[in-house]
Amino acid sequence: MKALNEMKLSFKSKSINEGFARGAVASFLMQLDPTVAELADIKTAVSEAVTNCIVHAYPDGEGMIYITAKVLEGRIFTVSVRDRGCGIPDIKQAMEPMFTTGGEERAGLGFAVMQSFTDKLRVSSRPGRGTTVTMTKQLSHND
Ligand code: ATP
Ligand code: MG
Repeated sequence: MKALNEMKLSFKSKSINEGFARGAVASFLMQLDPTVAELADIKTAVSEAVTNCIVHAYPDGEGMIYITAKVLEGRIFTVSVRDRGCGIPDIKQAMEPMFTTGGEERAGLGFAVMQSFTDKLRVSSRPGRGTTVTMTKQLSHND
């Protein structure tokens, strides 16, 4: 589907950039005049996806994170979050609630949150090449 509007961002996988990414995507979403709940949902979902790149994608250091956000016809908003990191060997398993490779301090709920706060979640990944998470949300017609 043709994008009515589109933006791209790239930034280092540093924890401090998580808030920047969340805020930048939220600012871009404002053109659709989202409800407070829709705005919160997108911010939370983006936060989970970006945190995953920061925490999991580059275990040996830092790499870049790439975000593309699009406004499609019919008030559809898509955000994709991509890294060129280690990749996910078994996507199905990674998406199961409470599966984590992060040890004690991780709940393994990031993908479950992304799934429940958006309408569609697509994950593609190649070990050694990186991961792309694309989330789609249909915004309500608030007129
Ligand atoms: P939580 O999000 O609750 O802190 P978590 O990050 O482990 O814990 P999920 O976000 O659901 O849970 O991710 C599940 C698992 O998928 C991770 O533990 C990790 O193994 C893998 N994973 C997720 N995103 C990436 C990524 N960008 N690159 C490499 N592995 C990833
Ligand atoms: Mg996570």
